[in-house]
Amino acid sequence: MMRLPKFNYRAPREIAEAVKIMAATGPDAQFVAGGTDLYPNMKRRQQTPRTVISVMRLPELNQISGDGQSGIRIGASVTLTDIVEHPLINRDYPVVAHAARTISTPLLRNMGTIGGNLLLDTRCNYYDQNYEWRKGINFCLKKDGDICWVAPGSSKCWAVQSSDLVPVMVAIGAKLRFASTLGERVIEAAGLYNDDGIAYLHKRPDELLVDIHLPPTNGWRASYQKLRRRGAFDFPVLGVAAFIKTENGNNHVSEARVVLGGIAPAPMQINEAGDALIGHEFAEDRIQAAAEAAYVRARPLDNTDFVMNWRKQMAREYTIRALRELADTR
Ligand SMILES: Cc1cc2nc3c(=O)[nH]c(=O)nc-3n(C[C@H](O)[C@H](O)[C@H](O)COP(=O)(O)OP(=O)(O)OC[C@H]3O[C@@H](n4cnc5c(N)ncnc54)[C@H](O)[C@@H]3O)c2cc1C
Ligand code: SF4
Repeated sequence: MMRLPKFNYRAPREIAEAVKIMAATGPDAQFVAGGTDLYPNMKRRQQTPRTVISVMRLPELNQISGDGQSGIRIGASVTLTDIVEHPLINRDYPVVAHAARTISTPLLRNMGTIGGNLLLDTRCNYYDQNYEWRKGINFCLKKDGDICWVAPGSSKCWAVQSSDLVPVMVAIGAKLRFASTLGERVIEAAGLYNDDGIAYLHKRPDELLVDIHLPPTNGWRASYQKLRRRGAFDFPVLGVAAFIKTENGNNHVSEARVVLGGIAPAPMQINEAGDALIGHEFAEDRIQAAAEAAYVRARPLDNTDFVMNWRKQMAREYTIRALRELADTR
């Protein structure tokens, strides 16, 4: 049985207190929300904080407010189950409820939070193993070693961004608010992720994610398609989020984004796919052109489930599905 290492546990009740504890403890501390990612990682000794600061008792992080007209604010500690079941999110942001519903299992969704999901560690077959297994291959660049087993000549880690909500948040243009003892800042979801499996966030470790702001639903629609082996439990090995905005009263696309998750250290916005759609009628030939662009840019590596060439081909297929779903929901 894998056991947790010993650690100090703090459960502050105010944001100011939480960030103060973090600032005082330094790099040995880490925030935890539901713990469905951090605690397994600690059991495998992939992450080894000496102090764990829970964010679950911070009232501001547990609330949802607003609606589709004004935009919605979701506290970082809101659970995935609450998102899946929330009437306003289902009515005004069905893509968010849908993507959350595809995450793991009901039990994990009861514990797991939106904040933890958006800050999820990157994943790789050579990394998501217990300590002895990793020791058996002399570890790897991401933790304790000096070689990447996926790309041995590479000085970079290619572990994969594996959250279902990340591509959706990038596609719809969500914003994230962080707090620390230095103050607050707001980051566009698109600017948060870094294409490096080790330093995968443009965020300091002492920054607390407070909440997520979804933009008003002024005429756009979005969809999410997930590839995984089983219909539940499994992480995405490809996720396609599609977003389009058409001009009032017609089918002319004025804004479009296609974002791939689950195939690189950061979500990939495929600008060529957006370009294939913007300025045109939203029709099947444009969907095919956008999907081809996604296929060309997708370069999955051999570090998750399924053969990488097949996953590349699925980037085309799943983009078609995501865009056709939008055509059907017009
Ligand atoms: C078997 C299994 C299957 C899974 N399947 C999926 C899946 O299909 N799709 C998917 O997307 N995920 C999946 N997950 C991962 C995980 O359960 C979810 O992503 C969940 O939403 C993580 O949230 P959490 O609150 O448990 O995160 P935690 O484990 O608490 O935290 C995750 C990370 O975020 C940081 N963090 C959390 N909250 C904050 C905050 N407010 N401010 C700053 N840092 C913070 C933590 O320090 C940690 O680094 C799976 C996990 C397991 C164990
Ligand atoms: S991509 Fe390479 S360095 Fe990164 S976790 Fe996998 S084997 Fe390790």
